[in-house]
Amino acid sequence: MTTAGTYDAIVIGVGGMGSAALYQLAKRGLRALGLERFSVPHEMGSSHGLTRIIRLAFHEGPEYVPFGRRAYELWRELEERLGERVLRVTGSAHAGVPGSAGFEDTLRACRKQDVAHEVLSSAELSARFPGYGLPPEMMAVVQPDGGFLAPERCVAGHAEAARSLGAEIREGERVLEWDAFSGGVRVRTEGGAYEAGALIVTAGAWAGRLMPELAPVAVPERQVVAWFETEDAALFAPERFPVFIVTLDGEEYYGFPEFGTPGFKVGKFHHDGESADPDALDRSWRAEDEEMLRDFARRCFPKAAGRMLRMSVCMFTNSPDKHFIIGKHPQWPQASFAAGFSGHGFKFCSVVGETLADLAERGETRHDIAPFDPGRFALSRE
Ligand SMILES: Cc1cc2nc3c(=O)[nH]c(=O)nc-3n(C[C@H](O)[C@H](O)[C@H](O)COP(=O)(O)OP(=O)(O)OC[C@H]3O[C@@H](n4cnc5c(N)ncnc54)[C@H](O)[C@@H]3O)c2cc1C
Repeated sequence: MTTAGTYDAIVIGVGGMGSAALYQLAKRGLRALGLERFSVPHEMGSSHGLTRIIRLAFHEGPEYVPFGRRAYELWRELEERLGERVLRVTGSAHAGVPGSAGFEDTLRACRKQDVAHEVLSSAELSARFPGYGLPPEMMAVVQPDGGFLAPERCVAGHAEAARSLGAEIREGERVLEWDAFSGGVRVRTEGGAYEAGALIVTAGAWAGRLMPELAPVAVPERQVVAWFETEDAALFAPERFPVFIVTLDGEEYYGFPEFGTPGFKVGKFHHDGESADPDALDRSWRAEDEEMLRDFARRCFPKAAGRMLRMSVCMFTNSPDKHFIIGKHPQWPQASFAAGFSGHGFKFCSVVGETLADLAERGETRHDIAPFDPGRFALSRE
């Protein structure tokens, strides 16, 4: 790869994806610089809140399965390096009434990709996992590899590993703009200017600010999660309670065992569909946020619909088709980016980091990223 200036590659945004990309660059012996406007980690973006689901059962489509398998391998590699667990296996349950997209698409993906699974009725699920109390007509695809990641530890762990391999990370330094020239890029921040042979933009909800082409197709959305008091915490311990995605009345909800803070954590995909300005996100508690999540808990996990113990506001960054956008800049191939994770990206941070490092190092990747090709949208600078 051509090197201009001081670094081989600069990564803008050291959150979930950027920290993994930095680790992968440093592992290859490349001189890498990460620029982060807040701290590493922080609570202003999309990678906080103590837990993120990881799974091999993909209602989003079977094309995610090979990418997911590699993600697991790389999370385990990170754990080895850190000497710490960041991934806990609990199993996962995808539930809904027969015929609902969440249930049927998951079953199809598991069958097509030969992913181990069982199909259980609501009664069978409750007998095995007594914290579950889904409506009797629901069925679930239970997949034994599902579980959760500890996002703050994943971000910090990737950053620590990257630093130990020689990467530089500058926290509290906001990037103002970047431009490209033949064979390299220049990045200007509030604190200075840097040059490199390659650029990776992993700015999450701010992707459209740094790459205006992405603004119409990577749209931030306000997202809320709540932790409710349970009747019996033992029923919601990670050993006895699989992570879940439940389709109820056509809406998808997700949740976790108790971990890191008291209570059962639950959220609704795309909450109430409110687009957000990442610099002016309403992080306050609203009564209707709580009521929406409590109503779901009452109907599906009645032993976990007690007092609200905690809530957190975060952002999804949605693409029009809810699939990821990963690839090279349409005009400057030395700049690559990953955006539009649409609420299901965290589990893939490890493999997205590897993919982005491939693109920065060689201009191509070993992974099949055709389904995430930015070319499916007409990207233009408006
Ligand atoms: C509530 C919630 C629940 C979720 N649940 C799941 C789940 O269970 N499983 C799952 O797989 N996914 C889940 N997701 C999605 C997943 O968390 C995201 O896809 C993932 O965190 C996105 O990572 P990112 O690196 O793109 O963004 P971030 O981690 O937010 O990183 C972007 C970084 O760029 C930095 N930045 C932006 N602009 C600049 C600038 N100008 N200069 C310097 N730095 C800049 C930001 O400060 C930030 O640190 C969930 C998301 C939310 C919000």
